[in-house]
Amino acid sequence: MEGRLREVHAALDACRACPDMIGPVVHGPPVVSSIFLVGQAPGPREGSFGRPFAWTAGKTLFRWFESAFGADEETVRARIYMAAVARCFPGKAKGGGDRKPDPEEIDRCRAFLEREVQILRPKLLLPVGTLAITQVMGEATPLAEIVGRQLRLRYHGVEMDMIALPHPSGASTWHRTEPGRSLLEKALRLIARHPEIRATFGTGR
Ligand code: SF4
Repeated sequence: MEGRLREVHAALDACRACPDMIGPVVHGPPVVSSIFLVGQAPGPREGSFGRPFAWTAGKTLFRWFESAFGADEETVRARIYMAAVARCFPGKAKGGGDRKPDPEEIDRCRAFLEREVQILRPKLLLPVGTLAITQVMGEATPLAEIVGRQLRLRYHGVEMDMIALPHPSGASTWHRTEPGRSLLEKALRLIARHPEIRATFGTGR
């Protein structure tokens, strides 16, 4: 399984399909895991670190996980497979902040996600942020309607549980104000109690 993930990563590393995207391609290691996290896209710093969630949003995300089930950043990186809707930095938006990947870019990058899901056949899916949640749900879904719930769904043909998280970006206030703050706490409790998290991080005993 790890070898097949490495093949996908080699194809990702060679991909230059999106003319407006800024390289390098960013992906995590080929972690064989039953837990599959989908982010939005790397920011401007992730490329130089060569790994997803390497800057401020990542610090928040890993703090959430540590508070929920006690695993530190490196342990989470070693045990959860980290993917994203797009694997290159989209550049800055005209109005400030990072540009969101456009529908054509998302479509092009979806082929990699599909291959990763087919290889790993995960049991728990963690989409992070509105864009990833929209891709997973197949339609725009307000955060307040999805964060704090656990759903059973099919993603790229594989049936799995899904627990959504808001984007941990410092630019977002959703998770720091109500009802976002309480819904985030609820989502993190659901994640901490999930059998795949308990088995993966040894918190089930
Ligand atoms: S975003 Fe995805 S499809 Fe587009 S160039 Fe980067 S790796 Fe390739």
